[in-house]
Amino acid sequence: MISYCPACWREVPERIHVCPYCKADVERLTLERDYVNKLIAALDHPEPTTPVRAAWILGIRKETLAISHMARLTRESEDPYIVEAAVEALGKIGESTCLEVLRSAARHGAVRVRVKAQQALLLIQRGTPAPRDCPDTPGADRCD
Ligand SMILES: [Zn+2]
Repeated sequence: MISYCPACWREVPERIHVCPYCKADVERLTLERDYVNKLIAALDHPEPTTPVRAAWILGIRKETLAISHMARLTRESEDPYIVEAAVEALGKIGESTCLEVLRSAARHGAVRVRVKAQQALLLIQRGTPAPRDCPDTPGADRCD
């Protein structure tokens, strides 16, 4: 069986602890990735409090691997509590790739989802580092 380093995806010998190419802790990363994949799988669990809990943990851990899956939940889940949890988690992860999803969630049918999406958007916008991300244009010094 061929193994791959979960950090640089180069082929590595089986059962090594540290990647010879990028020096990543292969063993720890593999265990963590298994855990994250389990959490992502739990987002589709039929018992509705399980996806809510999984989304919460993924948000706390800022798991960017889960973004596309949670984005899909916000569009497809019919449970506003699950959508709310996914929206909150996306806000915590805070990647700019979440913004589009959160903007559409801000127009969701359920009030609790809209409120959470607006909070998440504010959080991401406030968390954006100001000066060095400012466009190099006149008036950029007023960016805050
Ligand atoms: Zn590597």
